Amino acid sequence: MVDWPDGNLDAAVRFDEDPYDVIIVGAGVVGCALAYKLSQYRLRVLLLDKNYDVGEATSKGNSAIVHTGFDAAPGTLESQLVTQASRQWPELAEKLKIPFEKCGAMVLAITDEQNKQLDTIHAKAVSNGVDDVRLLSAAQTRELEPSVPQDVLGGLLIPRESIADPFTTSIAYAEVALANGIDILFGAEIVEIEDADKTIKKLVTARNDRIATRIIVNVAGLGSRRLADLYGGDEFDINPRRGQFLIFDKYSRSAIKRILLPIPTAQTKGVLVIPTIFGNLIAGPTAEDFSLDDEEVTDTTLEMLQSLLSGASRLFPGLVDQPVIGTFSGVRCNCSQGSYWIRSNDGHQGIVTVTGIRSTGFTSSPTLAEYLIKELHEKCGLNLEKNPNAVDSRPESNWPGWWQRPFANGELVKQNPDLGKIICYCENISRGEIIQHLDSPLKPRTLDAIKRRTRAQMGRCQGFDCQIKVAEIISEHCGIPLSKITKRGPESEIVPAPTAAGNEGKG
Ligand SMILES: Cc1cc2nc3c(=O)[nH]c(=O)nc-3n(C[C@H](O)[C@H](O)[C@H](O)COP(=O)(O)OP(=O)(O)OC[C@H]3O[C@@H](n4cnc5c(N)ncnc54)[C@H](O)[C@@H]3O)c2cc1C
Repeated sequence: MVDWPDGNLDAAVRFDEDPYDVIIVGAGVVGCALAYKLSQYRLRVLLLDKNYDVGEATSKGNSAIVHTGFDAAPGTLESQLVTQASRQWPELAEKLKIPFEKCGAMVLAITDEQNKQLDTIHAKAVSNGVDDVRLLSAAQTRELEPSVPQDVLGGLLIPRESIADPFTTSIAYAEVALANGIDILFGAEIVEIEDADKTIKKLVTARNDRIATRIIVNVAGLGSRRLADLYGGDEFDINPRRGQFLIFDKYSRSAIKRILLPIPTAQTKGVLVIPTIFGNLIAGPTAEDFSLDDEEVTDTTLEMLQSLLSGASRLFPGLVDQPVIGTFSGVRCNCSQGSYWIRSNDGHQGIVTVTGIRSTGFTSSPTLAEYLIKELHEKCGLNLEKNPNAVDSRPESNWPGWWQRPFANGELVKQNPDLGKIICYCENISRGEIIQHLDSPLKPRTLDAIKRRTRAQMGRCQGFDCQIKVAEIISEHCGIPLSKITKRGPESEIVPAPTAAGNEGKG
């Protein structure tokens, strides 16, 4: 069992008992989407992760663009899944209560050489089925986005490029899966697989728990190579590719309406300026290659952030005057053998490896999950019988508070006065919203899990003012000593453990 404060999600998990039909290893956006889609069938499914929340790895550190697939390599599985998903997203977001905005994007040509490439990018978009793109003259480009450089030579408008909330996406998928009876286990790192060649296989966790299953789906992202080694999966290499970002204050958001992109090079899509669904601007990402065991892979570095700022200001020169409130990095699962590297019955019957979901997995998650279910059915013999009682949406009350602004609704505050008690003044997040999330189905207990759900600690002060108040609310509401409140799970405690002298809770 997992030694985790109030982590009673694992109460339902069957250790050493009847096998699951499917165990999904990795609760990133891809694993959560797969759990959501599998929960529509009569199946026993377990979604597990070594971390203590969903979407805690690559899925929390991206540009959060719902791509149309206009620039994908035509004819690839990636292009097919991304373009299909892009059309599904507006309905998916509405069903799952994921904040989503069709803001559009613009590729900018600054040099003559770049201007010549716009036609090629336009043709590629059309061949990917994104036929609503439009070439723009210099004057049209400046008219639509007055903050772009005065010497811009032309642009390409992609009206359906969109932005969405990446955190709510994994959470929403997992919450619906849970409501449909799927089990979820956190703090479960898979370190061994027994009987991989048999019909019933056993996954062994770092805590020596054994969980039996007929099918294993490896969607462990950067961990997929190590996991594949445990069952002797096919050869592939992961070369983590870091992307750093700058986050600008909300004042900056009104300066641009659309995502601004440079003309891509053979190596990279380049640095973008991106409005976020939360009302900020971000600039990024960088593209820096690392080895799989490099521990600095998630750091941000002054040198790269400076070069990022200079690259981004070629698209929006005024960016250099905008206040930066934070930085972050995400690490792409870059597979040398190619993106969307998927092997069914990899090494053994009933094991599926999914890796190289490098730059578009947030967008493609719903269609990639459907693709994987088809593979599981056709190649691994998974029986698919629809569950007539399954739900596929979340109720209206699940729109995030930062999107709904409950503190400004007198009626709601009258019913629940805690919704009027502001804890995070940067983002206007109340004590009531934090408590609602603590009581939500996935039982978030870490500061980062609450941050991703509420936005408390994500504003201008980046938690300087409210972090300890949030920790106190978690401690009080869940009956967990303050010394056990962590940023992202065990070994990230924020105050020292009590001593014999009794310093409980003093940081
Ligand atoms: C800088 C950057 C920008 C991006 N921008 C966009 C964008 O704008 N739009 C878009 O669509 N996509 C974008 N992406 C890509 C997108 O973020 C990824 O494709 C997606 O998040 C991959 O999700 P995943 O579930 O495959 O992996 P992950 O989120 O990494 O999940 C894998 C999970 O497996 C778990 N795990 C690993 N090993 C084990 C083990 N042994 N036992 C148990 N659990 C294990 C990990 O803890 C992790 O939670 C971007 C990515 C980056 C890095």
